[in-house]
Amino acid sequence: MYISSRARNLKGEGAFAYLELGLKAKAKGLDVISFGIGQPDFPTPPHIREEAKKALDKGMTGYGPSGGLPELREAVAEWINSQYRTDVKPSEVIITAGAKAGIFLSLMVTLEPGDEVIISDPSYPAYESVVEFMGAKPVPVPLREENNWAFNIEDIEKATTNRTRIIILNYPHNPTGATLTRQQLDEIMEFARRKDIMVLADEIYDHFLYDGTHTTTLSYPGWRDYVIHVNGFSKTFSMTGWRLGYVVANEKLLEHMTTAANNIYSCPPTFNQVAAIHALKAGLDWFKPYYEDYKARRDLIVKELSSIDGVSVVKPQGTFYAFPNVDGLLKRINYPNAEKMVVDLLFDTGVLLLPGTAFPFKAGKRHLRTAFTIPQDKIREGMRRFREWVEEKTKT
Ligand code: PMP
Repeated sequence: MYISSRARNLKGEGAFAYLELGLKAKAKGLDVISFGIGQPDFPTPPHIREEAKKALDKGMTGYGPSGGLPELREAVAEWINSQYRTDVKPSEVIITAGAKAGIFLSLMVTLEPGDEVIISDPSYPAYESVVEFMGAKPVPVPLREENNWAFNIEDIEKATTNRTRIIILNYPHNPTGATLTRQQLDEIMEFARRKDIMVLADEIYDHFLYDGTHTTTLSYPGWRDYVIHVNGFSKTFSMTGWRLGYVVANEKLLEHMTTAANNIYSCPPTFNQVAAIHALKAGLDWFKPYYEDYKARRDLIVKELSSIDGVSVVKPQGTFYAFPNVDGLLKRINYPNAEKMVVDLLFDTGVLLLPGTAFPFKAGKRHLRTAFTIPQDKIREGMRRFREWVEEKTKT
């Protein structure tokens, strides 16, 4: 059977491959503690689940508009404006089947073959895969560990050519947990606007910031000319399985994205959207204790990782990931790379970590990504097993 070269070249997300590896370890009887795939471990709050059930019982089981229910688009605009004092109109919002679909649609309607797209190294994998899928060229720009994993404007300027169409920003950042300071963001936004380059801003972790406050790209004057803002319900509302995200951009661009969405999945799930309206209107008071827990987990995992000889970690300012450097450790236990260590550690102890190489491009070669989406006692237990495994290795 013939398979297109586009399909053959399309890459998936490494974290999902390790999710399967974790299931294999579980099937072998191991008690798996997973620092792998990043999804909130708290279930969707009951007040949101109840609304979905009610919507189902009322018969909201059919198709809806491809760009999402008007009431939800309105609620999203209100939600953003009330948090960030912005001026987003409902017509400048579309609802997508997850933020990931929002990223795909955004790149689909903006890229020509041969266009260049600036992407952080390391980065969330979908950016590189989708840019390549569109026939465009990903241009990695390194984030520097010694600079707390921040994007540097000089590096962006150096990587820019007359083919640069988009700069992708993701802050707080997966996998490093870093964010951008107001000044860093100002510099990037000013540069992009001056050079007529679009900014695709994936701000899905905006509520997972432990130090400082989040500035959205939508607060920059003239954003309608060059910003595409991607966000979603997966992380903040613990709704990863619901597949609901949104894109805020120029209305004209959204028209084309809506047509593309219509051709791919027709519409986002309708009963889910009714519940999402309620999620936004009910606010985030319920989230406070969870946020405090994530923050305590962040502090705990940084402490635990730092206690292992050969591991150093930049304290993540946001998200639920830490991105430790394990170069010294790999040398200590005489391992060629982090991938091999991750597999052996999993099948010896049940502890699942992700190698930094699951994230394009090269910067994470000697790193791990550890998601702290598990309770604190599990973090302690997982790290204890990791430490003991390392001690065993150094004995032999
Ligand atoms: N962007 C980033 C940076 C992410 O980490 C994720 C999820 N891991 C997504 C987008 C996708 O989110 P969704 O579940 O809404 O598709």
